[in-house]
Amino acid sequence: LNPLYAGLPTTIFEVMSGLARTHAAVNLGQGFPDDPGPLDVREAAARAVVDGWNQYPPMMGLPELRQAAAAHYRHWQGLELDPDAEIMVTSGATEALAGALLALIEPGDEVVLFQPLYDAYLPLVQRAGGIPRLVRLEPPSWGMTSEKLDQVFSERTKLVLFNNPQNPTGVVYDRAQMQLLADYCVRFNAYAVCDEVWEHVVFDGLTFEPLMALPGMRERTVKISSAGKIFGMTGWKVGLVFAAPHLMKVLSKAHQFLTFTTPPNLQAAVAYGLGKPDDYFTTMRAGLQRSRDRLATGLKELGFDVLSSRGTYFLSIDLSPQSVSIDDEAFCLDLVKTRKVAAIPVSAFYAQDAVKSVVRFCFAKHDATIDRALEQLAGLA
Ligand code: PMP
Ligand code: GLN
Repeated sequence: LNPLYAGLPTTIFEVMSGLARTHAAVNLGQGFPDDPGPLDVREAAARAVVDGWNQYPPMMGLPELRQAAAAHYRHWQGLELDPDAEIMVTSGATEALAGALLALIEPGDEVVLFQPLYDAYLPLVQRAGGIPRLVRLEPPSWGMTSEKLDQVFSERTKLVLFNNPQNPTGVVYDRAQMQLLADYCVRFNAYAVCDEVWEHVVFDGLTFEPLMALPGMRERTVKISSAGKIFGMTGWKVGLVFAAPHLMKVLSKAHQFLTFTTPPNLQAAVAYGLGKPDDYFTTMRAGLQRSRDRLATGLKELGFDVLSSRGTYFLSIDLSPQSVSIDDEAFCLDLVKTRKVAAIPVSAFYAQDAVKSVVRFCFAKHDATIDRALEQLAGLA
């Protein structure tokens, strides 16, 4: 048995969703919406199944989807991408991440990662033989500084794995922070693998900017997107990878022996969905922003210290200013049992020196779900 896997705990999302089922709790843990997703996109998938889009599609993805993605990202992010040479479809962002890390890392290469980190990152980096160099981010701003980056970047840095908008913190890094990171990538000739799955889920009128668009980054960046997040249908494992041709050639070699393809019916539906009018995306953002505000206001009224969230499905509370003296994990275990509300302890996103006072809630829920959770949390803070 490989000790790396033998030693891994079950992912916190699976654990908390299991506890939510056991205790019949309101599940604000694992990030998935109450809403079933846009009907027309679901119908497009159903039609594609019935019409016979069910055999192996091309390895790089349906041409229709790659063309739709090129148009979508030109329109929304100003990127010029060649659908034949710079776009690949994968089975979710998770496959894209695995493939990118397997293809780019050679054993012994150093990889810069930010904590809190999405839980798939570290095992993937380690399995690829990479040596993690962790930057510890802290509430309330979760900001990067040159002092922090100085400690981890060196000539040995092969790549940085960067998540923006960031899960679990809800931070959307601004231009100055991204420029800082881009400067280090250029200075140390490092690749950037950018997990931008939450790119459409940004609030307060923010415009999402991909790291790939910054000067010097186009040739060294692998951008990763997820249809599951773009359309709020998290079980749809359709990922998109964008990279310059010299990188894509190698990334496609990883993809060909990980999954080779992705269900063509879902690809056809995603191709349709990416062409939906702006209105769909702005309405989705506005709806999620309302839900964020509903949960944030409710938690504040209950006396919790709510941290800022500018994107993703998530907001967090910081327990440290409260009289709550237990750590985030104990807090969440108690919460799901006694209050019947599931949440995620943010310490699960740290490999070492964890911040142990922050708890993440998913607000991509109907008003009634949010209100029920709030009622059950009353009197706790
Ligand atoms: N990266 C981040 C930051 C995520 O939050 C998620 C899913 N929640 C993923 C990757 C995985 O995306 P997918 O479901 O498309 O594999
Ligand atoms: N991305 C989702 C979250 O952060 C969960 C993904 C998963 O369950 N692996 O809650």
